Amino acid sequence: MPMTPKTALYPGTFDPMTLGHLDIMKRASRLCDRLVIGVAMNRDKTPLFSLAERVDMVEHAVGPFRVHIDVEVLAFEGLLIHFVEQCGARMIVRGLRAVSDFEYEFQMAGMNDRLNPDIETVFLMADPRYQTIASRLVKEIARLGGDVSQFVNSEVITRLKDKFS
Ligand code: ADP
Repeated sequence: MPMTPKTALYPGTFDPMTLGHLDIMKRASRLCDRLVIGVAMNRDKTPLFSLAERVDMVEHAVGPFRVHIDVEVLAFEGLLIHFVEQCGARMIVRGLRAVSDFEYEFQMAGMNDRLNPDIETVFLMADPRYQTIASRLVKEIARLGGDVSQFVNSEVITRLKDKFS
C-alpha cells in the first residue's frame, strides 16, 4: 500500500527564532516525513523582525533537518486551521514551556479541534537547557546590550545586533 507522507505543521511567530524553537523543530522532524514551519504574520504582536526576516532566519537554520525529511518554511496570515488544511498537514506541533503556556495552548488546541477534528495538536517539550528561552526576553536582553549567545544561533545574533545598533 502506498504510504502518504505524514505532514506536520509547526506554526509560530519566531520573532526571532531561538534555540528552543530549533529544538522543537528537531523533535518534530522525527515524527513526520514533511515538516512545514509556518511563520505567522501576527500583526497583533507587532514583531520586531519583518515577516521576510523571520522566514529567512528559520530558512537559514533548517538545513540539517532536510537530510532526513522535507522541510518547507512558509509565511502565513489568517486562520491557523485554514493554513493547516492548505498544507495538507494532519498534525499541529506546539512547544510547551512552563505552566504559563498551558492555558493559551489548551484553549487553542480545543478550539482547533472543534474547527477540524481530523487535525491533532501535538505538544513537545524542549531540552531542559532551552525550556526557559522566550523570544520576548531574548529581544529585551539584546536591546539592553546583553549576551544572547546561549539562546539563539549566530545568524540571529547578527540580526539582533543590526536591529539594536
Ligand atoms: P506564537 O506567537 O505562535 O506563540 P512563538 O514563536 O512565540 O509563536 O512560539 C511558537 C511555538 O514554540 C509555541 O508553541 C511556543 O510555546 C513554542 N516555544 C517557544 N519557545 C520555546 C521553548 N524555549 N521551548 C519550547 N517551546 C517553545
